[in-house]
Amino acid sequence: MLHLPEESLTDNHTPKKIVLVLFHNDFRVNDNATLEHAATLASSNQGRLLLLYASSLTNTDKQKTWSKAYHFDEMGFARQQFLAESLADLDESLHHLGNKLLYLPTDSLSTDNSLSKIDTFTQLCHLIEQQSVTDICVSRTADYAQNQAYAALQVRFPQISWHSQPTTTLFTAMPTKDLPKSFTQFRKQVESNYDLLNGDNDLTVTPMPKFLPPLPDDMISNSVFFYQAQTFDKHAQQEARFKGGETSASAHLTDYFNSEAPSNYKTTRNALDDWTHSTKFSAWLANGSLSVKVLLNRLRQYERDVIANESTYWIWFELLWREYFYWYAMNHQQKIFLFQGISSQKPMTRSDKKLAQQRLQQWQTGTTPYPIVNACMHQLKSTGYMSNRGRQIVASCFIHELGLDWRYGASYFEQHLIDYDVASNWGNWQYLAGVGADPRGCRQFNLVKQTEQHDPNGIFIDKWQGKGIS
Ligand SMILES: Cc1cc2nc3c(=O)[nH]c(=O)nc-3n(C[C@H](O)[C@H](O)[C@H](O)COP(=O)(O)OP(=O)(O)OC[C@H]3O[C@@H](n4cnc5c(N)ncnc54)[C@H](O)[C@@H]3O)c2cc1C
Repeated sequence: MLHLPEESLTDNHTPKKIVLVLFHNDFRVNDNATLEHAATLASSNQGRLLLLYASSLTNTDKQKTWSKAYHFDEMGFARQQFLAESLADLDESLHHLGNKLLYLPTDSLSTDNSLSKIDTFTQLCHLIEQQSVTDICVSRTADYAQNQAYAALQVRFPQISWHSQPTTTLFTAMPTKDLPKSFTQFRKQVESNYDLLNGDNDLTVTPMPKFLPPLPDDMISNSVFFYQAQTFDKHAQQEARFKGGETSASAHLTDYFNSEAPSNYKTTRNALDDWTHSTKFSAWLANGSLSVKVLLNRLRQYERDVIANESTYWIWFELLWREYFYWYAMNHQQKIFLFQGISSQKPMTRSDKKLAQQRLQQWQTGTTPYPIVNACMHQLKSTGYMSNRGRQIVASCFIHELGLDWRYGASYFEQHLIDYDVASNWGNWQYLAGVGADPRGCRQFNLVKQTEQHDPNGIFIDKWQGKGIS
């Protein structure tokens, strides 16, 4: 009897697909249309599936010059830890489904053991060539630098088929004809055209794949690319409740909606510190460990089963802010990083470079003359999180009291926030700097009044040593 190689028996003369998924802010297996699409593509003719996270695809020299211009050194500790936990959890889920997470670090030594470093983009190109990848699947993103990297890959590998799926937003395409100039106009148009909160049906979510096609054979034994879980020093751990990953996101979703917190959200959301006073979903939403559609469906269920009031409506309202900034970033592309933003005028800043440098440092280290600002900045550095009110206060101080270029503030947030999201971060900073989507122009918060209102007994300032270490 003739023995054909296994490959020819199974492929019916169609070459096997080698499908590569580039994870980016879609770190989950539930409701992940990108993963599901990739799995379907690869299993259609017993193809192979590569599931990869590349830590920074935007590290090429060309992109460094503009996107990294304001960046401080590297990711803050809390953000690193949250990311590492998220990837470890994703790896475990992929493992259960029959595959594994591959990982490309920011820089790695070249394979010939010379000490020259290769950037992530180049490493990825080598992998694509080595594995003869036929298809690449990604989630749509408003991250301009990431999209630039995708465009560069498409130029480099024109033969590869690209597939991009919406996984980040409630709407698969912009829900308004043009992007309205203000959030209020956006919200009104969305609410009059779509009834996602109160409509009869839940939002459709993508089922988790039952299994995943395997890695290419030569990769199974090649552990160089396997994601290695990191361990962290216990003393330096962020607030334990912010644990990265889909498993923790799902547990938090259950806990939050099993509590009374959603029914009081509107009255508590401006608190500076307490865990239950706002939803705390942002970090999991930002890296995609939690699907916003799953979250909205759970909110709908809460409204059906428990209560529908102004507070539950306000959670939806805030999710619409997230949505607005996503489409804002998609629409304005690299303009979200410009000093003058989308406006025609540059804001005022302090011209004395030395003084500006000194003030920047005071702000970062929480040693400004403003205890409330210092407390918030200490909280950010140690936990990777700051309340929305805190962010407004420190950003307003940065722009108005300290007179600094808002982009340095946004970059510092980028470095430290565990919920860092390109669109929400740069969009909110622009808004507060008066060069974005705020029809009222620049907003200045009165720091004394804010302190009286949100920390009347100085508990928050004491906890986070806003007056310095005594
Ligand atoms: C200067 C500045 C920078 C910011 N940077 C980020 C960022 O990088 N990533 C980020 O997710 N949010 C950012 N925000 C928005 C907001 O502060 C956080 O989303 C919120 O504090 C997260 O906590 P929470 O999940 O408890 O929010 P909740 O008050 O419970 O809100 C529920 C959800 O709605 C969304 N949301 C709420 N407020 C906003 C808003 N103003 N803009 C966009 N989405 C919102 C978030 O997804 C949030 O999880 C920023 C705000 C400011 C003022």
